[in-house]
Amino acid sequence: MAKTFKDLMDEARREVPEWHIDQVKEHLGNGQVYTLLDVREKEEYREGHLGGAVSLPRGFLEIRAEQTLPDKAQPIIAYCAGGTRSLLAAKQLKEMGYQNVISMTGGYAAWKGAGYPWKQDRQFTQEQSTRYSRHFLLPEVGEEGQAKLLDAKVLLIGAGGLGSPTAFYLAAAGVGTLGIVDHDTVDLSNLQRQILHTQDRVGTPKVDSARTTLQALNPDVHVIGYRERVDSSNIMELIKDYDVIVDGCDNFPTRYLVNDACVMAGKPNVHGSIFQFEGQATVFYPGKGPCYRCLFPEPPPPGAAPSCAEAGVLGVLPGLVGCVQALETIKLILDTGRPLIGRMVYFDTLTMELRIHKLRKDPDCPVCGVRPTITELIDYEEFCGLRAPGAAAQATIHAAAGA
Ligand SMILES: [Zn+2]
Repeated sequence: MAKTFKDLMDEARREVPEWHIDQVKEHLGNGQVYTLLDVREKEEYREGHLGGAVSLPRGFLEIRAEQTLPDKAQPIIAYCAGGTRSLLAAKQLKEMGYQNVISMTGGYAAWKGAGYPWKQDRQFTQEQSTRYSRHFLLPEVGEEGQAKLLDAKVLLIGAGGLGSPTAFYLAAAGVGTLGIVDHDTVDLSNLQRQILHTQDRVGTPKVDSARTTLQALNPDVHVIGYRERVDSSNIMELIKDYDVIVDGCDNFPTRYLVNDACVMAGKPNVHGSIFQFEGQATVFYPGKGPCYRCLFPEPPPPGAAPSCAEAGVLGVLPGLVGCVQALETIKLILDTGRPLIGRMVYFDTLTMELRIHKLRKDPDCPVCGVRPTITELIDYEEFCGLRAPGAAAQATIHAAAGA
């Protein structure tokens, strides 16, 4: 004889322990770690849920449980709206090998009715739900991660070869605020690699061109352009409101400046640099790994390391390195994966060799070491030997932030 619904429920009750909302609240407060599992439909979850609850609608249990809940020994408290769906879901999870699954009686309705804490995640518009749908599918991003991206503020130093792909992908991913510092205008010779810009914008400020491109791609993104040269006098003010700084500059004075300012302000600095056919990227995170000066305490002698304008650069190369910078920035915002802190990825595009070097923090580093000797910003042109101490500012290189 086919089982009735009542038979199924009775069977589930014999197998699954049920806890009253008060019991759940007490257990959540006493230190043992439970996974809270919300088995209602996505729309119900969006309206409000228990803090920290994982959303896995009952209809997706078989196909997603092992990905969403990889540890079968981890105790789980399942809930739904009233306690029926969660009881059946808990029974199903037990059959799938989960060892300790409890169902909450009364469900979310009783929990909320009792005045217990609940939260509502960020509400996405229909357009955003569609735009970010591929992120929502990834448990490592999801709606919570997308909300973090939309709330994040990233400052790009330079809208050139590296800044272009980085800004493009950060805007596409929905990073809500993108600051871009670049004093330069678009030049025809930039277009071989600086993909934010177009031929009809030659002669216009790069920050304006960048804004036009990025807002056409994603109107969610607030683009703030700073048409100025970054230097010791303005950098602390520029970086202070941003969560992550992306260094896409093409010269040594700016690279040391960005490094020192980020160490002093405690901001992560996503670094990239390119030369002809080779590129490298890493993350300098104050307090968590080395800084640029730990690796290169002294700049190369003037003229020893020519710029792209002097030595040339393969057009696709900054795309590769800039994409690594965008990826690392997103990982930092989401706090997921293993960031490139203390490691540098190095590409040789001619041989397509990719190496990852371990980087060590220097305890004697003049800026992030145990006894730092550089505690305020200095004259970086002078430090890089590009200007004699005290001499007038007849700089021999232009500190263009446009790799
Ligand atoms: Zn250092």
